[in-house]
Amino acid sequence: MSRKLILKSFSRDDLSDCQNCPFEKNNKIWGEGNFGGICFIGEAGGRDEDVKKRPFVGIAGKLLTEGLAVAKINRYDNWVTNVVTARPPNNNFHHPSTIKARECCLHGLKKEIAYVVSKGVRVLVPLGSNASRSIGLEFERMGQICGEIYRDSFFGFTDLWVIPNYHPSYLARNGGKDSPQWNYWIKNFVKVTNFLKQR
Ligand code: URA
Repeated sequence: MSRKLILKSFSRDDLSDCQNCPFEKNNKIWGEGNFGGICFIGEAGGRDEDVKKRPFVGIAGKLLTEGLAVAKINRYDNWVTNVVTARPPNNNFHHPSTIKARECCLHGLKKEIAYVVSKGVRVLVPLGSNASRSIGLEFERMGQICGEIYRDSFFGFTDLWVIPNYHPSYLARNGGKDSPQWNYWIKNFVKVTNFLKQR
């Protein structure tokens, strides 16, 4: 029997910083899901997310949902959000307006993380280098930090852990399920669930 899908979402709209954001008038793509223990963090929505005003509902989102299912993680039982909650020009995370937006969004992200942590989230999974750097990790290549277990310092929570993984768009560009990184990607997601079970 299929379960009724009930998703909570978190609006960062009432945060004063949003008023000075270059994306103030854009559609907002708020984080959503449930509090199964994991919060996946992408960089920013693209065209599909902008239309549906929901995170990870395009090609990358489909691959993420499928990859998580292989790792026996139900995406909708967990939280999915982005660093920047609007679509950047040309999906460019390094566009000057996105860089400005990110400054305000980080404040909102911190509040959102505090909210999901208060509901039971224990592990953040930043997807890709932009999300990982945005939450304070320092590295040269994503491969150096994928699947590593960090205790977060950026958000100042004592029982919050970070296990970064590749961004699904990276997998999608490299063959999706046929990508040489696919099995490793799944293995890192499994590591997250095993970690949660031990805690
Ligand atoms: N969709 C999102 O919501 N975030 C990304 O980082 C990529 C696609």
